[in-house]
Amino acid sequence: MMMGFDTGALLPLSDALQGMLDQLACCCDSEQLPLPEALDRILAEEIVSPLSVPPFDNSAMDGYAVRLADLAAGAPLAVAGKAFAGQPYQGDWPAGHCIRIMTGAPVPEGTEAVVMQEETQVEGELVRFLTQPRPGQNIRRRGEDLAEGARVLAAGLRLSPRELPLLASLGIASVRVRRPLKVAIFSTGDELKPVGTPLAHGDIYDSNRYGVKAMLARLGCECLDLGIIPDDPAQLRAAFLQADREADALITTGGVSVGEADFTKQLLEELGEIGFWKLAIKPGKPFAFGRLPNAWFFGLPGNPVSAMVTFDQLVKPALARLAGQTLAVPLRLAATVTEPLKKSPGRLDFQRGILTQGPNGLEVRSTGSQDSGVFSSLSRANCYIMLEQARGKVAAGETVTVEPFSGLLL
Ligand code: AMP
Ligand code: MG
Repeated sequence: MMMGFDTGALLPLSDALQGMLDQLACCCDSEQLPLPEALDRILAEEIVSPLSVPPFDNSAMDGYAVRLADLAAGAPLAVAGKAFAGQPYQGDWPAGHCIRIMTGAPVPEGTEAVVMQEETQVEGELVRFLTQPRPGQNIRRRGEDLAEGARVLAAGLRLSPRELPLLASLGIASVRVRRPLKVAIFSTGDELKPVGTPLAHGDIYDSNRYGVKAMLARLGCECLDLGIIPDDPAQLRAAFLQADREADALITTGGVSVGEADFTKQLLEELGEIGFWKLAIKPGKPFAFGRLPNAWFFGLPGNPVSAMVTFDQLVKPALARLAGQTLAVPLRLAATVTEPLKKSPGRLDFQRGILTQGPNGLEVRSTGSQDSGVFSSLSRANCYIMLEQARGKVAAGETVTVEPFSGLLL
């Protein structure tokens, strides 16, 4: 299946993404959780409104409920009674009277408008109306927000603080949500040392694991961190097997580039079915994807910027599919570059940029060196500058597509 891509030619990002998504389906069971525990979980059911919101016609203002005919003569009206939120007025409503009403109170039967109190004048026992209301003015109608039976939330939505009060307003106390996707991670490379330990000559700190772990947390995944695994077949094999037993997916960084792939490749081909791709994107050319016996495998390049970008552009949508989440289409905008950008045709570039609001619209500039090892290019950026595969260098003043960093990278 995925071996079909292993042709040696550079694979366009969209083909790689489609090739993965075609094979993936949600693998997370669902459970019923009370609303507060459902925050950040993915809805496993469609929510249909069991009632109308608001459930009854009610006042949008503090003021007076009126019938238009009573106001026709222009004379002040007597007050027949009061309606409060939670305490409807249930008495008679004689002609020539209005009813004092507060915000949220059910409007008494026969109400044609509510006049806000600022547009009235109290004269002893009587109220004078300074304006002529429109029919229906300041009345919130039953079902105006949500009608009974309306589709309110789609399955696949990640629940945010914006949805929980909505669900509560419908009287829904618990919802069916997916269990979190479980993702194992490890970094590979003999040169990698954990933070908090000294570096020998030739060593560097393992930074990728912190990025990958943080992005998994943002995605709502459960993470099994297997640490740093040296370039050693026996240790790698044990780590692959543990990840396969205990997680739904495994993400590794390093070890998939040309110099090293043969080694990892042999091992992975023996354990599962993995395709090694050369993506037509920059940064992030080498990428591996496939199946271990139980878990899906994503092999990211070792270069820190490449690892983050390929995670964001490829692994995020793949994990969302496994987790049962429907992702919003990324927001892509047109902006004017204020300085020239280096670019050679052949790959889709995800350059790191700083997007600002200029006097005539959005402006973007590069964060500097775009080498895939330069992590500061990413940390100072707030967007990708996406330069199309066939495009060459870009002059100041040209229009480019930018993708502001989303929740994953913020
Ligand atoms: P590789 O893909 O293993 O050939 O690694 C490419 C480059 O990324 C090399 O310079 C590695 O030292 C570096 N690298 C690999 N893994 C990590 C990591 N976990 N953290 C920081 N740099 C890494
Ligand atoms: Mg390596």
